[in-house]
Amino acid sequence: MTRPVHRVAPATDTPVRQGSLRAHNLDLIFRQIVGRRAPISRSELAAATGLTRPTISRIVEELLAGGLIVEAGPARSGNSGRPRVGLNLAPTGPAGLGLDIRVDTLTACVVDLTGAVRHLAFAPRAEAGSGSGSEEILSSLAAMAGEAIGAAAAENLTVVGATLAVPGPVQDGVVRFAPALGWRDVDARAALQARIARPGLPVLVGNDANLAALGELYASAPELRDFVCVSGEFDIGAGIVLAGTPLRGARGWSGGLGHVMVDSDGPPCACGATGCLQCYAGLQEILAAVPASGLPPHQSPAVAIDALVAAGSPAILTALERAGTALGTALSALVNIVDVDTVLLSGSYSLLASWLTEGIERELRRRVLTAGWAPVEVRPAPLGPDAAVIGAALSAIDAVRRDPNSWIARAPG
Ligand SMILES: [Zn+2]
Repeated sequence: MTRPVHRVAPATDTPVRQGSLRAHNLDLIFRQIVGRRAPISRSELAAATGLTRPTISRIVEELLAGGLIVEAGPARSGNSGRPRVGLNLAPTGPAGLGLDIRVDTLTACVVDLTGAVRHLAFAPRAEAGSGSGSEEILSSLAAMAGEAIGAAAAENLTVVGATLAVPGPVQDGVVRFAPALGWRDVDARAALQARIARPGLPVLVGNDANLAALGELYASAPELRDFVCVSGEFDIGAGIVLAGTPLRGARGWSGGLGHVMVDSDGPPCACGATGCLQCYAGLQEILAAVPASGLPPHQSPAVAIDALVAAGSPAILTALERAGTALGTALSALVNIVDVDTVLLSGSYSLLASWLTEGIERELRRRVLTAGWAPVEVRPAPLGPDAAVIGAALSAIDAVRRDPNSWIARAPG
């Protein structure tokens, strides 16, 4: 816990330093409120931070006036029997905007400061211009962003940032390589900033698997702290969370599970290597086991696979069994190295979990050294296919969560 600094601040503080002290204490108190799911009283804030009651009262008033928190009413009584007024994050005020590109749809999502989803919109990919080029997709996403910003404003929410989730490694807003989209070195951040009708709106671009893990981390906190969130919407990615913190890697490129080798004699992969997990468990690769499946452009492979299973296709069941085994083999290597206790099947895998889980669990039991006394739990991710866009929206509002002073400084009145 960060210690309060008011006790050590010298009496000769200049106005500037008093200002930074105030900002520090405001940050400290706000973090306590962010970290709780239940309302917290002023007394509990004093106990948690070590700050004096007058300091707490002054800063709470400032957070209330800035619209970052609200009084939640007398949540419960203290020892004295007096009802205590709880403090919660405000459901109006700052909001984050998430954008996501899926096989069949484009998605936009707005979350408020409490993490609640306030707006969720989908547009079919087929309507994203004549093709799937980056220009058409980014223009469509910018239009969806404009609508989402308007919908948020109607609910007294101000979008403070946008994050786009993409299936591939990103560097400084540039999508280096997204084979599923055919994108290479696309400056998605600059393109969105130029097209979204909100000049100066901060835009981030992140990997979809890592953003899905962030969404699941928030949705399942504090119970879930060490897990891998595997999604197979396009390339298979694994968002890794250890001790409640997403593992980004040196350049934010961690989690490329799809190109872990599961069979050295396996077929060639689009990445140039051979025998990658992607060759066995990619959705398109699973579907390819049924040559006549005839998937229309931009239709979700998960929906097509589901339909083939429902029709009793033996070939698709065999392909799903093989995919589950390959996923279990690759995940075993990961679990042996990073020691997580839960595997979440996210994105389209969440829709196919009933056919994949058995094979994954079997390989984990066989290959994870510690599985004998500490089995790894495998289950569908609670947020399902929406995890990446929700995680993107959460990452967009994170700037206010980490720096509440920036919002208070800009808030009118
Ligand atoms: Zn590969």
